[in-house]
Formats: sequence, structure tokens, C-alpha cells
Amino acid sequence: MTSSNLTEQIISAAKNEGRTLLTEVESKNLLMAEGITVTDAHLATDADEAAAAAEKVGFPTVMKIISPDIAHKSDVGGVVVGLADADAVRTGYEEMLRTVRESAPDARIDGVSIQTMAEPGIEVIVGSTTDPQFGPVMMFGLGGVFVEVLKDVSFRIVPLASRDASQMIREIDALPILEGVRGQAGADLGALEQLLLAVSELIERRPEIAELDLNPVFAYPDGAIAVDARVVLHEE
Ligand code: ADP
Ligand code: MG
Repeated sequence: MTSSNLTEQIISAAKNEGRTLLTEVESKNLLMAEGITVTDAHLATDADEAAAAAEKVGFPTVMKIISPDIAHKSDVGGVVVGLADADAVRTGYEEMLRTVRESAPDARIDGVSIQTMAEPGIEVIVGSTTDPQFGPVMMFGLGGVFVEVLKDVSFRIVPLASRDASQMIREIDALPILEGVRGQAGADLGALEQLLLAVSELIERRPEIAELDLNPVFAYPDGAIAVDARVVLHEE
């Protein structure tokens, strides 16, 4: 199947179910098909399937709840990192389902995603939203406290030129952190620019996408990878 067919298929499956929020597994499969680097996410629908998927991915592994009704997985106890072996995955599965059902009793649950645990990096956010006036807009910022408390983010209208991507990264106040301070390794700014451009191109190609969140992306001295992804489609 060609990548664009896979994207079509993911988008139309959601539309047919009347959904605008793609799950993490759908979002990552779409992004992978479009050439954007994300951690693999394998859907497992019971504890044994989860353990088998983890054996393939390798340990330690990461497990997250997959539900078309849950946008913020850790808010409902739906993210566990560092599961050490198959038994931990089996136990973790049952525990996660119990916890999530308590905090979100009405959510439909597809299962969990099992994925590679990425090496820690500098956490950044790459996103796009649709502005009623300007149309699709890209956002960039540092992850965690920086984005939530300091609102240290930059915006540009899609489509981005290379120079826009470069400026978006360099105009945030936290730039020194990305450049590397006091002996701390910095981030591969070239890889982040490429990521911003790739997302901008995707948004241009796929006007069905209303919002896209890569939160967080782990940025390394060499390369960058999105460990979480959320795609929201426009209402029909
Ligand atoms: P949420 O839906 O709550 O945003 P995330 O998928 O972003 O859930 O996971 C929460 C946090 O767990 C992330 O911010 C990241 O620090 C960590 N995390 C998630 N996935 C991975 C992964 N594959 N490897 C390493 N850390 C991860
Ligand atoms: Mg996230």
C-alpha cells in the first residue's frame, strides 16, 4: 500500500465512525506514512497481546491507553513508562484499564499502545492549529513547564519556508537550552527545522487535518523523535 493510501484509509475510517480525534496509534501510523519520525505504537487489545508486542519492541517498554474519547492520556493514568519485562506489561495492562475506567467511566477503550521507550532528550512541542482568520498556523516551543507557564512559543502561518522554520526555533526565549548550556548537550536544530517543514507540508497536503500535536518531541544532539502524537480532523 502506498503511504498516501494508508493516510486516506486512516482518515476515512475515523470519518466513517463520525470521529474527529485520531487515536495515538492512528496518528502515529499516519505520520510514519508521511515520513515523520515517531516512536512506533502497536495496538494491543488484551494483556497477552500487550506482552507479545512488548517482546517484539524490546524492554524497557512504554504502554499507553488508546481511546477515541481520551485526548490527554496521563490525566487519566493512561501512560506508564519503563515496564521492565513481559510480566510487568501483563500486570500493568490490567492496572491501567482499571485506573482509566475509574477516571473516565464513559470512555470507549480500544486497548493500549506498546512502544519503544525513547532515550531522554530535550522535550519540545511542534503543533499546528487552524486560526479562523489565518487558516493553518504552526507552533513551536519547549515542552513541559516552559510552554504551560511561560507561554514561550512561536507561531508562523502555513506554508513555512526554511527561513520561517529557522526563525521559529531561534525566537523562543529558551533558545539557549536548545543550543546547550553549561556542558549540557544541545538539540539538533537542523532536525527540528526539518520536522517543522515536514509538518507544514503535511498540513498543506491534507486539508482535512484541523490540529496536529507532537507533544513531546525528544530532541537529541543528533536527530529528534515524536513520542506522542495527536491529530484532529475538521468536522465534516
Ligand atoms: P499525554 O496524552 O498525557 O500527553 P504522552 O504520550 O505525551 O501522554 O506521555 C506522557 C509523557 O510520557 C511524555 O511527556 C513523555 O515524557 C513520556 N513518554 C511518552 N511516550 C514515551 C516514549 N515512547 N518513550 C519515552 N518517554 C515517553
Ligand atoms: Mg503528550
